Amino acid sequence: MIAIIGGTGINKILKLNNKETITTPYGTAEVMRNDKIVLLLRHGEKHTIPPHKINYRANIYALKKLGVERILSINSVGSLNLSLKPGTFFIPNDFMEFTKKREETFYEDRVVHIDLTYPFCPELIKVLKSILDKNNFEYSEGTYICTEGPRFETKKEISFYKTLGDVVGMTLYPEVVLARELEMCYVSICNITNYACGISKNPLTVEEVLKKIDEMEKKILKVVDDFVNYPFGKRECICKDAIKLGEIK
Ligand SMILES: [Zn+2]
Repeated sequence: MIAIIGGTGINKILKLNNKETITTPYGTAEVMRNDKIVLLLRHGEKHTIPPHKINYRANIYALKKLGVERILSINSVGSLNLSLKPGTFFIPNDFMEFTKKREETFYEDRVVHIDLTYPFCPELIKVLKSILDKNNFEYSEGTYICTEGPRFETKKEISFYKTLGDVVGMTLYPEVVLARELEMCYVSICNITNYACGISKNPLTVEEVLKKIDEMEKKILKVVDDFVNYPFGKRECICKDAIKLGEIK
């Protein structure tokens, strides 16, 4: 089973219409699904849940409960580097996080130290790159900086983040870690919607970001379509053994 976590537009291609509420020990999660794909809209159907209010644990737990093995996450980001242009894609291969008040683990009554040498599934990164190459979609790779939001960052913050990473966003963390904690493979495709504050001369507006998301939507739908139709075999990656490798008994 494959899950897509993303924004409202994704269902234009998946065309799932059976909405369902999944109950978990961490709260409920809303999904749409068929026997092969689960779609989870992290900001809700009408885009009303801000990044810092998303119930990441309920969402990821629900996917596990439904038998999901592989997750493609779609995230919008700001570029920290003039050479990473809005309108292109970005594949994170590492992250740093500066969030403040998010529930970020499932392991509160057993000692599990998850290894994050490769926080994103190496197998799925290969698949994603092959899809982007095949479609001639421009992309780069690097480190995702996750902030708490919902506000955008200050110029001073961005000048600091710039020394640590390549793009900045609000939604990747703790999703990526929670998925690994439940031994699911997770990969993210980021659409670069704007330059972060102070990187270009113009002030950052929500209109600018939404406009870019619209422009990139067709390409994202193509990536999602190729991903859900990819002939996946048995998993050979590290993700499936994360607990065995990380638990102290
Ligand atoms: Zn994996």
